[in-house]
Amino acid sequence: MRVYKQSRMKNRILEEIDEKRDEMTKFLQELVRIPSVVAHEGDAQRFMEKTFKDLGLEVDVWEANVAELRKHPAYFETTSYTKFGYKGRPNVIGRLRSSGEGRSLILAGHIDVVSPEPVSAWTHDPWGAEIVDGKLYGRGAADMKGGIAAMVHAFKCVQAIGAKLRGDIILKSTIEEEDGGIGGTLATILKGYRADAAIITEPTDVSNIDIASAGVMYFRIMVPGQSAHAAAAHLGVNAIGKAMKIYNALLKLNKERQSRISYPPAEVDPAMKGHATTINIGKIRGGDWSSTVAGWAELECRIGWPPGEELEDVRKQVEDAIYGEARQDLWLRENPPRIEWFGWRARPHEQDVNHPIVQTVAKFVKELTGKEVKFVGGSAGLDARHYVRYAKVPAICFGPRGFGIHGVDEYVEIDSVVETAKVLALTILNWCGYE
Ligand SMILES: [Zn+2]
Repeated sequence: MRVYKQSRMKNRILEEIDEKRDEMTKFLQELVRIPSVVAHEGDAQRFMEKTFKDLGLEVDVWEANVAELRKHPAYFETTSYTKFGYKGRPNVIGRLRSSGEGRSLILAGHIDVVSPEPVSAWTHDPWGAEIVDGKLYGRGAADMKGGIAAMVHAFKCVQAIGAKLRGDIILKSTIEEEDGGIGGTLATILKGYRADAAIITEPTDVSNIDIASAGVMYFRIMVPGQSAHAAAAHLGVNAIGKAMKIYNALLKLNKERQSRISYPPAEVDPAMKGHATTINIGKIRGGDWSSTVAGWAELECRIGWPPGEELEDVRKQVEDAIYGEARQDLWLRENPPRIEWFGWRARPHEQDVNHPIVQTVAKFVKELTGKEVKFVGGSAGLDARHYVRYAKVPAICFGPRGFGIHGVDEYVEIDSVVETAKVLALTILNWCGYE
């Protein structure tokens, strides 16, 4: 009898999700058409506020309080906070209170997207949400408004079939994930929005579950030189040339680390083999004038690494490599480069795959897609770390299939958004329980 009832409920929810597919697609198009580049999340958050209210949820909209955040060990000043502050950039929470007899669940997504530049390289309007062959194009379509559409749709359909949940549901639309999620996810956790598990609907290709995130740090190296007239360049010291030495030292460290460090979930994709950790030199500036010997140069870099190393140890390796190189240069020995750690300063995390939330989602993915789930992660910084490391809330990332993330012509496959919604809806019913 119970099995019969369960499978009847299951069929109903799956049918409901298919029937309301167009509604979901329209929602996603509207959301993609609202540009919400990091630090400019306000308009999209107003849209999410209305969405959560229309779902009948108890809604909380507020801006992060930096004085509070600063006290937290995970705090760092994000570059978007430094530049724009948190004003006009609220988080939006929708909560459904239940009898509280079942397990509670957070479904969360970040509303911010990265810049679509260079827009001229796109063949689709990044804010157009055009659909071609089942693919919805736009900046953020995959990362991660498709996932937000899936979670909203899943919850809406659970409501529509009249399932009375026994555990609380918390839907979150957060800011600033691309920049570290300090004023976003971390702020929501500090405000008390925790649960027995959390699913962040980042695009994981439906058949993957992301169980780890990378440690990520940004650093800047200021390399001094000695300016002089170009005609007497031999009397100066070219900082650009000296910066190249540091550049090469970092490449050497990167190579040495990559040969030593491996983390299978980060290397599931054959293209990622041997690249579980990376040092990227992302920006270089220096000098002032073609007729002047460059008196200064600056490199900006990111280091990412999988679970297994502590942040302090990684930082020391980087500093040792830079200062070690400097000691071998007559000029740099006397005029050492300066290292500044700025922006991203995140520790890695790892979620135990045997936890029931991981197994529940994996089970439904297999049932619906016929595919065995792969556990991936550990090469990018993710908001999931805030739950796992600092709130003891088990958390995974699971969501639709997309391409062009942080690149050109980003799209999400609408079928995969529907599939994600189905897995999420079944997970909600199973995890929270219903009457
Ligand atoms: Zn994302």
